Amino acid sequence: MGDGSALLRGLNPEQYAAVTLPAEAALILAGAGSGKTRVLTTRIAWLLQTSQVSIGGVMAVTFTNKAAKEMLTRLSAMLPVNVRGMWIGTFHGLCNRFLRAHWKQAGLPQSFQILDAGDTLSAVKRVIKALKLDEERFVPKQVNWFIAGAKENGQRPKDVPVHDGQTQTMVEIYQAYEDQCQREGVVDFAELMLRTYELMRDDAALREHYRRRFRHILVDEFQDTNRLQYAWLKMFAAPDASVLAVGDDDQSIYAFRGAQVGNMADFEREFRVKQVIKLERNYRSFGNILDSANHLIGHNSRRLGKTLRTEAGPGEPVRVQENASDFSEAQWILEEAQQLHRSGVARKEIALLYRSNAQSRVIESALFNAGIPYRVYGGLRFFERAEVKHALAYLRLIENCNDDTSYLRVVNFPTRGIGARTLEQLQDAARQTGRSLWQSVGAVGGKGGANLVAFNGLIDGMRNATLGLTLREIIEHMLERSGLIDFYRTEKEGADRIENLEELVNAAEAFVTQEGFGKDAVALPVDEFGPGQLSDGAAAGLPNAVAAVDLTPDAETGEIMSPLAAFLTHAALEAGDNQAQAGQDAIQLMTVHSAKGLEFDAVFITGLEEGLFPHENAMSDADGLEEERRLMYVAITRARQRLYLSFCQTRMLHGQTRYNVKSRFFDELPESALKWLTPRNQGFGSGFAREYQQAWERGSGLNSVVGAGRNNGWQPPAPPPVPAAMVAAQAKASGHGLKVGQGVFHNKFGEGVVITLEGTGEDARAQVRFGRHGPKWLALSIAKLTLVD
Ligand code: ATP
Ligand code: MG
Repeated sequence: MGDGSALLRGLNPEQYAAVTLPAEAALILAGAGSGKTRVLTTRIAWLLQTSQVSIGGVMAVTFTNKAAKEMLTRLSAMLPVNVRGMWIGTFHGLCNRFLRAHWKQAGLPQSFQILDAGDTLSAVKRVIKALKLDEERFVPKQVNWFIAGAKENGQRPKDVPVHDGQTQTMVEIYQAYEDQCQREGVVDFAELMLRTYELMRDDAALREHYRRRFRHILVDEFQDTNRLQYAWLKMFAAPDASVLAVGDDDQSIYAFRGAQVGNMADFEREFRVKQVIKLERNYRSFGNILDSANHLIGHNSRRLGKTLRTEAGPGEPVRVQENASDFSEAQWILEEAQQLHRSGVARKEIALLYRSNAQSRVIESALFNAGIPYRVYGGLRFFERAEVKHALAYLRLIENCNDDTSYLRVVNFPTRGIGARTLEQLQDAARQTGRSLWQSVGAVGGKGGANLVAFNGLIDGMRNATLGLTLREIIEHMLERSGLIDFYRTEKEGADRIENLEELVNAAEAFVTQEGFGKDAVALPVDEFGPGQLSDGAAAGLPNAVAAVDLTPDAETGEIMSPLAAFLTHAALEAGDNQAQAGQDAIQLMTVHSAKGLEFDAVFITGLEEGLFPHENAMSDADGLEEERRLMYVAITRARQRLYLSFCQTRMLHGQTRYNVKSRFFDELPESALKWLTPRNQGFGSGFAREYQQAWERGSGLNSVVGAGRNNGWQPPAPPPVPAAMVAAQAKASGHGLKVGQGVFHNKFGEGVVITLEGTGEDARAQVRFGRHGPKWLALSIAKLTLVD
C-alpha cells in the first residue's frame, strides 16, 4: 500500500500525532467538533494503508448504528477496501456478530433471537405469572430493572447478594427468567453483552484468539460506556494492545443509564496510558456558536476542563425566537427552514432537535401539511408508534367493529387471556362464513370464547359511553377503559409511551380546533381573528391539517363524517409514507440524544422552556441539572453555520396547556453572541392572551392554567371579556332552535334524540341518536329535522 501521507494532509499537529501514535493505549480527551471521530477514522485508514494491520485486525466501537454507518462511509471514501468485513459497529451489534460465530460455545441455539425492550418486559411478566407471584409486590417493570442491573454488574442469579426475602424472590425470578429465555432460545440486550463477556472470560483459547487478532481497538464516545462495556473491552484487548479511546466528559449524557465517566480514569490507569491527547481547535462551528457552547458548559462544576477555539470567525449570530405557542413555533421553524433551503442549504443539512420525543408531533404535522420532506431519526413518526397505533385501533373499533386488522391488533392487548389457538379458531370461523371477526365470536367455545365475548362487550361499552362526547373525551375514555394507560404504567419505557398517548389527545384537540370541528369552533371563529391581528400570525398559520378529509355533507340526508371518523382518516393519512424516501433530501428531526456525534449546517433547538429543557425530572438535583446542561452543550455543538434557539409561552403537554418560562440556559449564554428575533421581555404577548382565552372558553381554563403554571409561580389574569363577534356567533348557533335532549324526526333515519350540538350558522352540526340507525352526525343546514315531543 502507500505511506499514508495523503491521508494525513490537513490534520493539525495534535491530530497528526494522534493518528500516527505508536501501537499503544491512548486517550483523546477533547471537546465537540475537534476532530475526535475524524482522528479515529483516519487512524484506521492510516494503519491499513501503511500495512500495520489487516482488515480483520481492527475493531472499532461506536454508540449508534448511524454513527457506525457514518464511519464505514468515511472509511470507504478514504480507502479502496471492502469495509464490510470489518468489525465496526455498536457494542450490541458486535456482540451479536460474536455470538453468531460462537453460538455453540455460548450455549445458544444457532438461530437465537433477540428480544427488544418490549419483548423483554412481556417475558418477565410471563415468568412472574408462571411462578404465581403477586404483580403488585413484584412489579414487572422493577423486576426487569433488577435483572438488567444485575447483568450490567456482571452478576448471574447466584452472584447477587441476598439480604432479605424480597431480594431472595427477585433472584428466583431472575433464575426462572434465565431458564425461560434459554428454553425459548432468546437473549435480551444486556444478555448479548454479558454472554459475550463471560465466554471471553472463561474460554482461554477463544480469548487468546481474539486478543491476537484485534491488535487495534478503537472506541468512540468513550464517556458513555458503562461498567459491563468497559469490562467487555478489557476481555478483547490484550494487555499490550493498542487501544484508542476517544471521548468528551462534557458530552456524557447517559449517566442515567449507568454510564460512568470514571471509566476514563480507570482506562488511563489500567491500560497505562502514557499521555492524554487534547485537541483544542474546533473545526465545526463558527465563533458565536462555539462561544455559546463554551459559556454554557462553563456553568457545570464537575469538569475535567478543556478549552475549545475556532479560527472560523464569529459567523452569524445565534438567533433566538420567542413564540406564542408550540403551533407558532412549528410554523416559524417551517418558514425559516424553507427560507434557508431557498438560499441554498440542503434540507438534510437542517436539523430540528428536541428534548422529548413527544415534541415532534406538532413539528411533523406542520412539515407534513406543507409537503416538506422530512425524516425522523431515533424514533418512529408519531402516528406509527406502536402505542399510538394501539390507541387508534381501539378508536377504529369504536367507529367500526368489523375492522379485522384493528380487532387483531388489540383483542389481546393488553392481555385478556385470548391465546393464539382461540384466535385461530375465530379466524377459521370468520373465513368459513365470510363474516368479520367481531361477528364470529359466537363460534368459539370455552374460556377463550368467553373472553372474546367480553372483549366485544368492552368495545360496545366504550361506544355507548362515548356517545355525545367530544373527540378529546372519547379518546380519554378509551385510553382508560381499554387498559392501555394502566398497561404502560407498568412498563420500563412506559413513561414515554404514556406521553405519546397524551400527545394523541393533543393531536385530536388540535384537529378539532383547526378543522372547526367541535365546540371550540364556536369559541374561536378563525376568520374573526384574521391574520395580522396576532403578533406572530398564529391563527393565520395554523396548518390546514385535514385538507384531504372529506367533510362534505351528503346532499340528500345531510349526514357528515363524525369527528372521530374524520380524525381517524387524518391519522391514517399522516401515517402514510410522506416520510422522505431513502436518499431524498429531507429535513432531519431527532432528539438531542440521537444527534450525538452528528453535524449539520443549520440546527434548531426547540422547546427551550423550564421543565422541558432542562427536563423537570432532572431539575431537582445538581447532577441531573449538569447532565441536562451537557445535553444542551451537545445540541449547540451540532451546528456548523447557523443556530436557532426557540421557546414558547404556551405548549400543549400531557393533555394540558402549559404556560412556560424560558429555559434558564438562556441566562447562561453570552449576550454578545445572540440576536433576539422577537422583542425581549415583552411578557405574555397577544398570542398568549388568545391561547389563554381559548383555554378559558373550553372551560378547562383556570384549573389547567393554574396547575400548569407551577414552575414559574405565575397567576392567571382575570378572564378576558368575550369579544362581541363571538357573542354574535353563539347567538347564531342557537338559531336552529335545537337543544340537547330534543326529540327530532329525519326523513331517512326516522326518530332520534339530539345528543351533541356544535358549530355555528352554516357549519352547525348535530349528533343525533336514531332508534334504528344509531348515532349520526348531521349538517343542520342540509338535514331537514322536524321537532318531535
Ligand atoms: P463530536 O464531539 O461532536 O463527536 P468530534 O470531535 O468527533 O465531534 P469530528 O466530527 O471528527 O469531531 O469533526 C468535526 C468536523 O470538523 C468534521 O466535519 C471534520 O471533518 C472537521 N475536521 C476535523 N479536523 C479537521 C481538520 N484538521 N481540517 C479540516 N476539517 C476538520
Ligand atoms: Mg465524534
